Amino acid sequence: MDSGSDNRNGNHGVRQPGSATMLPADEHILRATWDFAADAMVVSDRDGVVIAANPAYCELYGYSHEEVVGKSFAIIFPEDDRAQAVELYKETFASPEIAPTVESSILRKDGSTGVVEVSYSFIVENGQRTAMFSQIRDVSQRKQTQRALEAERLRSATIIEAAAEGVYGIDSDGNCTFINPAALEFLGYTASECLGRNKHNLIHYKYPDGSPYPAEQCPICNVLRDGVTRRLVEVTLWHKDGSPLPALCSCAPKIVDGRVVGAIITMVDISERKKAEEERVRLLAIAEEARAVAEQALRAQEEMLLVVSHDLRSPTTVIKGMSQLLQMRIARGIMLDPVQLTSDLTKLIDAANRIDNFLQDLTNGPHIQRGQSFSITPQHVDLVALARNVVASHQPRTDRHKLMIEAQSPELFGYWDPARLEQVLDNLISNAVKYSPQGGVVKISIGYEKGSFTQETDEASDGQTEGGVAVLTVEDEGMGIPADDLPHVFELYRRGANVRGVIGGTGVGLAGAQQLVEQHGGRITVASQEGVGSTFTVLLPRGSSNADAQQEP
Ligand code: ADP
Repeated sequence: MDSGSDNRNGNHGVRQPGSATMLPADEHILRATWDFAADAMVVSDRDGVVIAANPAYCELYGYSHEEVVGKSFAIIFPEDDRAQAVELYKETFASPEIAPTVESSILRKDGSTGVVEVSYSFIVENGQRTAMFSQIRDVSQRKQTQRALEAERLRSATIIEAAAEGVYGIDSDGNCTFINPAALEFLGYTASECLGRNKHNLIHYKYPDGSPYPAEQCPICNVLRDGVTRRLVEVTLWHKDGSPLPALCSCAPKIVDGRVVGAIITMVDISERKKAEEERVRLLAIAEEARAVAEQALRAQEEMLLVVSHDLRSPTTVIKGMSQLLQMRIARGIMLDPVQLTSDLTKLIDAANRIDNFLQDLTNGPHIQRGQSFSITPQHVDLVALARNVVASHQPRTDRHKLMIEAQSPELFGYWDPARLEQVLDNLISNAVKYSPQGGVVKISIGYEKGSFTQETDEASDGQTEGGVAVLTVEDEGMGIPADDLPHVFELYRRGANVRGVIGGTGVGLAGAQQLVEQHGGRITVASQEGVGSTFTVLLPRGSSNADAQQEP
């Protein structure tokens, strides 16, 4: 008998057990394979009647051997589908074509369902197909896993698609494999402009300072090399339009069979956070500066109060001592020499004046510190006469200094507050005397300049400057001001290093003088060299009769 097989490969067919060519050993092998195969196997004749079914077949469908063998294979289909299944079977049997593995749903006896993969071949005798051999593999579990994986993939894809953070993937060469809408919006590209392109070269190619950013230095690219996840790395990416994009990136490697085959990168836009951070730092710096200034002012004020309380002792001692001396002389009936008496009284008045000045500084200091203006009442004033008066009040108090006045003209009128100008000049002359302990000449010059007074603040352009500018200088040959202190002498409570602890003072006078001069629309400057002397210059717009505008409350 000529028997063989007809299958996809043209061999490995099942030969009928007990055929003439089968050896006993073959039969044993076949039997064992048949009985213990994990796959279901069935042999059916041309009408679809089952000739043989292995235990795995019975187990797969839930039928007993007897329920299957000798019956139509179609019992494994729902009743309604059986006729059609038989039709199809017959067509397959007759067709010269043999289909590759087919996937099909199954219905078990107990009503449960599953999915199988079926491959089949034919048993041929005398050139005729006599039976079909089918091998059926239960792939229900695999299918279920595949479906679960597919569902998971879809779920992840949906999450990535909808995520507010930018997400993109790269392959092992760093080329973009996917990118979500948030990343596209952040980077300003379309998907087609990104996919397949090297991401580092596209969006991370330079440092914030503009220098090139080699991929070897990039923490994201390095994940491809070492497979180590990077979390929340602060980077600057580049928008399509070239603008910088501060971002926090995390990058996880995609590892297959122990090899890094790509990476997934997430990124969060932190430009707002950056801006807020910069603003916070800026405000902190301002607050810190303000605190330092306030602290410095407080320290200076405390220092000043200490100095003042110390310095006040000397005039009060003078007043006390001299008054007691006079009292004693009178009590003892000692005749008072008028010259001596005049000199003593002058000293008493001087001491009282010094106390008065200290008290004035104590009031003016906080006033200036609060940024309050002084009251100014401008009048038609002759600066030359005013200066002569102030000089006259100072000269008798010193015999070591020679106070000289040089006036460009016998009179120089302007609209100023005389009491306030006296205060300014008084401060400049007493400083010139006080800070020339060795004595010397103190020269007061008064002149004027034609034209308008130009100040850095722009008040020059108003009508108050029609009369030109008065120029008043006070020059001494005293100890001068150290270069480091020179820019600060007009600051409240600031005193030169060469006078602190040596000569009494409060550091208030010049700050007050500057404020008064500026309230007159003028400017005060100083030139000085330590050990040589100082020159203070006051520029005062002469103003006009409409100078009422300068009045302060
Ligand atoms: P005070 O004289 O009470 O200390 P001022 O505000 O009048 O306060 O002066 C501030 C500082 O400027 C002085 O402490 C001193 O260091 C310096 N200064 C002012 N005038 C002169 C001057 N003519 N010569 C040298 N130093 C001066």
